[in-house]
Parts: sequence; structure tokens; C-alpha cells
Amino acid sequence: MSTTQMSLEDIHALAKNTLMTQGCDAENASAVADIITKAEGDGCHSHGLMRLAGYAATLKSGKVNGKARPTITKLAPAVVQVNGHNGLAPLALAQGRSHLIDAAKTCGIAAMPLIGIHHFAALWTEVEPVAEEGLVAFACTSYKPAVIPAGGNKALYGTNPICFGWPRKDGPPMVFDQASSVMARGEVMLAAREGHALPEGVGVDEDGSPSTDPNAVLKGALLAFGGYKGSSIAMMVELLAGGLIGESFSFEAAARDNGDGGPPQGGEFMLAMDPSLFGDAAGWADHAEKLFDKIKEQDGTRLPGARRHSNRNETSRSGVAVSNIVLDKISAL
Ligand code: NDP
Repeated sequence: MSTTQMSLEDIHALAKNTLMTQGCDAENASAVADIITKAEGDGCHSHGLMRLAGYAATLKSGKVNGKARPTITKLAPAVVQVNGHNGLAPLALAQGRSHLIDAAKTCGIAAMPLIGIHHFAALWTEVEPVAEEGLVAFACTSYKPAVIPAGGNKALYGTNPICFGWPRKDGPPMVFDQASSVMARGEVMLAAREGHALPEGVGVDEDGSPSTDPNAVLKGALLAFGGYKGSSIAMMVELLAGGLIGESFSFEAAARDNGDGGPPQGGEFMLAMDPSLFGDAAGWADHAEKLFDKIKEQDGTRLPGARRHSNRNETSRSGVAVSNIVLDKISAL
């Protein structure tokens, strides 16, 4: 794959300028560029610059308001609702974050339902900053139908990622972030772009037959990880990021989506907990380290997030090798 080496600053500028030429104002463009740059910096290319084409399509079609201003409403002392007013999710998340953190530090636990947003990103970019403030954090979001409920034959659930962050005294928080499908759709798109076959058991084609061809799976559907267990987690995400907060389920989001290739309008659910208010204020951090140490004692293990952090160390020094296919697509915008 031919690539161009870019600094994180150059990646941010490219993303921000491109979004501004496509209809975002500076504040929205900057918020999206922040999370695209984080994704590239941590080696999560499926949610980096590759996503600009989708953002551009959705701004061009008018589905998303690139100049939206989120509003924040306290629905209860520990429930902070953010309404994105049909904008992109990153600005809504960035503006809601301090309210969620304050509510969790006051009440011990707080939730942030986000409505009226268009979400197209990796969740760790949102959970990690909350965990860096010393809070245990959780987030999930739905999408458009891409995953078959266990035993069924038609996509119903989104790829519905869940993300969990745990703060640590020394070093970055432990954060895991995973789709409830066997593989995230972004990874399937990446395989299609790079011409790689998928492993067995990732998805089916339009006729419901198992396939390792990423293009066929993009037209067909993905399977939930772990069979019926992952399927129930995908259902839980639909309920938290849709049913609980007055937003759409994936199938409802798809029904009103214009198919422009960008993210549909939908919701997200975030939770934050202050570990100093759950009964072990003095001990919780060291106690968790004992678990992490026990995990790492075993050969072959690592903590989730370790790959990203090692990429982050590397790219902060030497930049990122960005695919020229992606850069050509951005130039064409
Ligand atoms: P992966 O399967 O690549 O990774 C899932 C998690 O497992 C990561 O936290 C990863 O950490 C960790 N992990 C991987 N290997 C190991 C290991 N050997 N030991 C311990 N931990 C490990 O992620 P997915 O493909 O499921 O999801 C990719 C991204 O797609 C996510 O960021 C998700 O938020 C995003 N997504 C977004 C959607 C949206 O609608 N906005 C929809 C679906 C997915 P590490 O990163 O360090 O490897």
C-alpha cells in the first residue's frame, strides 16, 4: 500500500480544512478533526481520515447541519441531555463532557443521553477523556441495521459498539472499545479498500450465505460476536441509545436516512461514575492494579488499549503513514 508520512498537526489541518470546505463551521470542523486525528494517531485508521468522504457526503446532501450548536438540558440532577440539533456528534460530545463529569462528581453516577446527533467515530475517543478525569466511564451507540439477531436472517441491529474506561493512578486509563458484531463495519470497509478477504464467520452476503468477500458482506450483513450473547448486547445498545433516551433504533434511523453514505441521525448513551464515591475511596485504584497485574502475569495477554497507546507514542514522534488512496479521495472532494 503506498502511503504518505504526515504529522498529527498536518492530519488535523487537512481534516479541519476539508470539513470547512464541505459546509462545517470552524467549531464543528475542529471537533471532528480532533477525533479523526486521535484515531490516526492511535492507529485506528478505519475511523480516521478515511471517514472524511462520508462526512463530506452527508454535509453535501444536507442531512447534517455542519453549523449546528448543541444544547444541554439537565433532565434530573444526574441526567444531562445533549441535543445535537442534527449536527455531527463530536461537538455535542465535547460540549456535554464537562457537564457529565460535574454531575458524576456531585452525584457519584451520572448519565448523558445524546440525541439528534450523527455518529461516525470510535467511542474510545469519547470515553478516554472522561476516564482521564478520574471517572469510570461507559458509552454505546447504535447505527443502521448491519447485524443479524441470533437465529435470524436479516440485519436489524447496528454494529452497536460498547466502550468502557477505567482510570488509573499512573498512566492512561484502561479502555476497551468493541463493536457487538464480530468485526466493525469500518474494518470491513478497510478490507474492501485494501483487497483483503475477511476471516470466516464475520458475515453473510445478500442471500444470507456465509462469505469472506468484504464487498459481499457490506451488501449483506454481519454476525454478532459470540452468537446469541453478542446479539443480546447489540439489543441492549439499541435500548440504551434509542428506547431509553427517546431516540431511534437502528431500523428507524435507516428508514429516514437518505443513504448518502454518511452516518444516520441517532443517539448515544454515556455513563460516568466517580470511584471515590462507591465505598473504597482509598483503595479502588490500587485494588484494580492487582487485577491488571494478574492479567499481565500470563504470557500472551495484554490490556485493551495497549496497542493504541504504543501507536500513540510512536506517531507523536514520527507521524502517521496515511494511505494515498485515502488522500486521493480527500483531494477529489
Ligand atoms: P477490535 O476488535 O479491534 O478491538 C476491540 C477491543 O479489544 C479494543 O479495545 C482492543 O484494544 C481490544 N483488544 C484487541 N485485541 C486484544 C487482546 N489480544 N487483548 C486484549 N484486548 C484486546 O475493535 P472493533 O473492530 O470491534 O471496533 C473498532 C472500532 O469501531 C471501535 O473503536 C468502535 O467504537 C468503532 N465502531 C463505531 C461504530 C459507530 O457507529 N460509531 C460502530 C461500530 C464500531 P486495542 O485498541 O488496544 O487493540
